[in-house]
Formats: sequence, structure tokens, C-alpha cells
Amino acid sequence: MSSLRFSALKELGATEKKIGHYNNKKVSAMFASNVFTGRAMREYLSDEAYKSLQASIKAGAKIDRKMADQIAAGMKTWSEERGVTHFSHWFQPLTGTTAEKHDSFFTIKSDGTAIELFDGDALIQQESDASSFPNGGIRATFEARGYSAWDPSSPAFIIENAFGKTLCIPTIFISYSGESLDYKAPLLKSVLALDKAAVDVCHYFDKNVSKVTPTLGWEQEYFVIDEALANARPDIVMCGRTLIGHAPAKGQQLEDHYFASIPERVFAFMQDFEQEAYKLGIPLHTRHNEVAPGQFECAPIYEEMNIAVDHNALLMDIMTKIAKRHKLMVLLHEKPFAKINGSGKHNNWSLATDTGINLLSPGKTPRTNLMFLTFFVNIIKAVHDYSDLLSAAIASAGNEHRLGAHEAPPAIISTYLGSYLSGVLDEIEERVKGKFNEQDEVILKMDIHKQIPELMKDNTDRNRTSPFAFTGNKFEFRAVGSSANCASPMTVLNTIVADTLKHFKKDVDALIEKGDKKEIAVMQVLRSYIAASKKIRFEGDNYSDEWVKEAAKRGLSNFKNTPQALKSIITSASKELFSRNDVYTPRELDARYEIVLEDYVKKVQIEARSLGLMVTNHILPAAIEYQNVLMQNVKSLKELGLEEESYRAQLKLVKLISKHIQDINDNVESMISARKVANKVEDMEKRAAMYCDTVKIHFDKVRYHTDKLELLVDDKLWPLPKYRELLFLR
Ligand code: ADP
Ligand code: MG
Repeated sequence: MSSLRFSALKELGATEKKIGHYNNKKVSAMFASNVFTGRAMREYLSDEAYKSLQASIKAGAKIDRKMADQIAAGMKTWSEERGVTHFSHWFQPLTGTTAEKHDSFFTIKSDGTAIELFDGDALIQQESDASSFPNGGIRATFEARGYSAWDPSSPAFIIENAFGKTLCIPTIFISYSGESLDYKAPLLKSVLALDKAAVDVCHYFDKNVSKVTPTLGWEQEYFVIDEALANARPDIVMCGRTLIGHAPAKGQQLEDHYFASIPERVFAFMQDFEQEAYKLGIPLHTRHNEVAPGQFECAPIYEEMNIAVDHNALLMDIMTKIAKRHKLMVLLHEKPFAKINGSGKHNNWSLATDTGINLLSPGKTPRTNLMFLTFFVNIIKAVHDYSDLLSAAIASAGNEHRLGAHEAPPAIISTYLGSYLSGVLDEIEERVKGKFNEQDEVILKMDIHKQIPELMKDNTDRNRTSPFAFTGNKFEFRAVGSSANCASPMTVLNTIVADTLKHFKKDVDALIEKGDKKEIAVMQVLRSYIAASKKIRFEGDNYSDEWVKEAAKRGLSNFKNTPQALKSIITSASKELFSRNDVYTPRELDARYEIVLEDYVKKVQIEARSLGLMVTNHILPAAIEYQNVLMQNVKSLKELGLEEESYRAQLKLVKLISKHIQDINDNVESMISARKVANKVEDMEKRAAMYCDTVKIHFDKVRYHTDKLELLVDDKLWPLPKYRELLFLR
């Protein structure tokens, strides 16, 4: 038997323990060594260029051409000293991966001299014929030009591997007519909108605040499996997940993997990618085993959102590349294996002021307390008003498998505040009946600060089932999928909070104008927001069936699948929200909707094809081969003159296998016809719904019978690595 499975298993045994590229250095000694940091800028730029760049980073001011030439020259010297020969505009198109187009510094002057050159033009803007990037119809082919434009707020960095080094310039990617074609441009706009709205509200309490920045700390979950075994599975190679495979005898029920010691081969891989990450200034801080066998997590120290998003995108890239060095494969898919936990990417989100305050950290004085409560309540109100947009922002073909399953937040958005803060909100709502009066100022004096840290230390009060939980000094958006670009959910969160804060300010100002004292006006509006957003608050078990019923009673959305959830992107409420905050134009939203639908269709289509081919080319032949062995055996026993009783089991197996083969075949045929029908439908919304309702529904049926065959067929004949091999061998 010489299937790919068995040669992979043989190879696995022979894999020598890789020492990796571990260099024994302190993290601080290598941290950001490949980044054009403030320090590098100081060293390589003239005073004038340095100041102009800093101003542009702080205020988003434009850099003039002359300055850009100087900055480019400084970057070039810095990177050439480190062995860089090429540069690339680095961006995050809507494909979900990162994109680079390398250009050499090298050029030939008109007189034939060969020199290296990198000027301001090359730094600031590049034209790329990127018509094959998703654009949702924004770029007709006759106007296929796209531009990548330098984003000075994210520092340039050097990507290195054993064969060379490239200077990467973080950029945004836009169409000729100015529409955004990437994740970053809208994110930056949402950060700006939030900054403005939050600063305005801060001024009720603290006039010194002049900038508010959202912060993000992501927790990246992933699976690691042996590369040779992975390569023996067409589904993993094509789709990043298994489409078939019976659960192993032992899954995660013993809970012996979570926080257990990290297997050495994986540990070597972690050390290796962490070092690469450190050089790029990615402040990784924790690593551990996750709940499922073969599943792990890493998380950085949180950063300013723009940088944190870049760092997560970079890290996913690095992990994928470095794994190869160790003959491992990283699976970032949300649900690589059925019946065991999937992977998420918790987005820890907060707001920081330029005066050093975390706005979601309960204050020490009545004044800062009220500032905390103000932001806290506005966020809850935003989540309440726009929960459907949050659902849409995390919906994808991969995350669809995870949401609602027991390890992940359900598709119903709710927010968990903890019993203490819930109580505070209830009290405000109760106590301040009707017109709020001066006596109620006592609420302002509640010592929230002292209580919360105590509360959060108590793990029993931590609700791990909530999709959007307050965790002491930040909100944790847990429903985000592991392969997602954080920018997509974060753009929505920033925008809905910005918009709510703007409304809040209007409401408070109106009361002040009528003669209310400022604090009283704030409390009045908070009280009305608390009352209006009650239905989004849930402290119980989000996985329970009771919650599904209760949520329906409350009128909360429960999107059963991705196409349904995505519809919220293009409602008039969504279009108005995003245009009045200058984040997306209606046209950009239409385009994005088209792109995510198409992405969904393509992913399900690839899965359907892979599944069809795999069962037809790999599974059915193995089943038939085994059936032939059984029949030969029956025939021989018969020839010996034995009665039927002595080959009853064999006959039963032969029949059982036939039944499964038939069922697989029938379902594959229906799946293919459904796909053909769906492909003829021009309208992308309809096509996506059809892929979901008529194509995808066959997956489980094909899988059911295939997994039964896996239990019946001789192990020697089974062509694909099994779950126990993928998950437990390394
Ligand atoms: P866990 O949620 O697993 O208990 P922690 O609460 O320590 O872990 O933090 C998880 C993530 O939250 C980390 O990436 C951390 O950097 C991030 N985080 C902590 N404080 C903030 C903040 N103010 N803003 C954004 N992210 C934060
Ligand atoms: Mg967490």
C-alpha cells in the first residue's frame, strides 16, 4: 500500500527534531529591528524631514513632494544598510490576504549608469493594474487602474527571508475614482470619525483631551498540523479545512490539551515565528495550547488600532511561511475539524486618550466615573442599535461553521457587562425615575473604581459565552473569526460608537440649552440610553436553548447563515450611517456587499468541488476495493462448501458498504446539479443564497456516509490521513 497517507506517516516518523532558528537573544534586543521606527527616523532623516513626517503621523497632514524625496532617501539608506534591494507597497486587499508588488531600487539612468534609486514619488503613490483584486464592479475593465498610497501612520518595515530582504511601505489601496478597495482605508476613516466624536464628548469632563485612539489587542487562535499529512488531504490543501473525517476515539473530552505543556515541535515553530514577529515590532506576549488537540493561541500587548491591524495581518503571513520551515502547516480557518472547537480571534477593544486615560477603565473620582459611564453606556447603545452590522462584519463562509456551535459565541449579538455594572445601570434606570433631580447626584459618587477590579478577579463572573463582553477595562468582541482581517469588524465598531457619541452630544447639549446642569443632562441622556438598549444585555449562558427563545422574544436578530447576515450591509440605515461618518459611500458599500457575497460563493464552490472529487476519486475506490476483498472472501468460503452462517458478517458488510456508496453518489450528483443551477443565476445575492440552501446542504450528507465508510473500510486501504493522525501526531 503506497498511498500518500502512508508515505506521509512514514515521513512523520523520520522528521528530525528541528532546532529552528532560535537565537537566544533578549526580545528587547531584537524588537523592531526591522522597522523604520521613530528612532530610525531621527537617525536617518534631516530635522526638517523628521518633523514633517511626525506632524503627518500625528495630524494626518499631507507631506509635500520635496519632503517625500528626503524621507524616501532616508528610508533607502536605512534599508540598504540592512541588505535590502527591493521595495514594495504593502496593502490589504479584500482577498483577505496581504499583497506586495516588488520593485527594485535599481534603475538605469539616461546615460546608461546603473544606480539604486528610491524617490518621493515611489514612496507616496504607486499605480498598479490590479484589476484582478476584488472590486465589486467599482473598476470596469477600461478603468482598471488602482493606486496604493502611502499611509505614514504605520511605519515601514523590512520583510526578510533566507533569500533576500524587501522594504515594505504600508499603503491603502484605492480605485482611480477614489473608492477604497482594501481594509485599511475605511478603517482609518472610522478611526478619524471616532476620534472626533469621542474628543467632543470627553470635553464635558476633561478639556485637556485632544485625541482619542481606539486600541486593539487580538487573540489569534490557530491549528498546527504536520505538513506532509496535510498535503495528503486535498480538502486541507484546497480549502484549509477538512470536509470529511470521522471524529477520533479521543477528542477534546478529557480537556487535557488546554494550557498543557506545548509539544516541542510546535514550540520550536512558535519560537521561530515569534522572533520574526519581534523584529517587525509585533509585541507578542502570550502563547499557549487551546482547548482542541492541535490548537494554539498567541496574543500581543495591545496597540493603537491601525498598527494592531497591520500586525495581525503580517503575523498571519509570517506564521504561514515559518511553519513550512518546520514542515508544519498552520490552519487559520475557523473550523478546520468537525466536532472539535473552531478558532476565533477575540478583538479586545478600548479607547485611549492622549492624556493617558483608558476611557473604559472606571474612574477614581465622580467626574471620571461619569466619563467612564458615558462611554460605557454609549457603546452598549451602539451595539444595540447596530447589532446587525456587527453580525454582518464577522459573517463569512468559514465563521458560519463556528458561530452557534458550542465553543463559539452564537450568531445572536448580545453584550455581557458583569453583575456589578449591570446593577449600576439598573440602579440608574430605577432611581432616576421621571425627571432626574439633584439628589440623584449620589449615583455619580458611587465608587465604581474600587468594585470593578474585585469583580473581574472573580473568574466565575466572567462570561465566556458572550459574543461581546466587558472584561474590566475593555470590550472583547469574541465572534470574530480566526482568519478575518480585524479591520472589517473594527471599522464597524468604531463607526457605530462614533455615531452614537455624536447623537449623545446633541442630546446632552439640547438639555443643557434648556437649562439643565451639565452632569444632570449627561445622566438624563444616559438613563434614556440605558432604557433604550436593555434588550441587548444578557448575563446568562449564550449557548443555551432558552437564550435562543428569549432572544427571539426580545426581537434580537439570529442570522442562520452568512448570506442572511450580509444583507445588513446595504440597508438604507447602514448606508446613511457610513456616509454621515465619512467611512463608506453607498457605492463602496454596494461594492463590498458584492465582494463578500462573491467570496462566499467561491469558497462554497471550491469546497463543493473538492468534496465531490475527493469522495469520487479517493473514497469510493477504496470502499469498492475493500468490498471486492470481502466478496472474494465470501466466494472462497462458499466454494469450500461452508454454509451462509459462516460468511454472514462479510455479506452484511458488503451490503452496508454498497448502501453508503449509493448514498454518497446520489448526494454528490444532486450537489453538482444544484451547483450548475446556482451558477446560472446572475444576481450574486440570489446565487449566494442558493449556494447556501441548495449546494452546501449536501456537505453533511456526503460527509455522514463517508465517515461511516471510514469506520468500516480496512485501515490499510483508507487513502486519507485520519483525524487521529492529523490531530495527535507530530
Ligand atoms: P484574556 O482575555 O485571555 O483573559 P487579557 O485580558 O490579559 O487576556 O488580554 C487579552 C488581550 O486584551 C491582550 O491582547 C491584551 O493586550 C488586550 N488588552 C488589554 N487591555 C486592552 C486595552 N485597553 N485595549 C485593547 N486591548 C487590550
Ligand atoms: Mg480573551
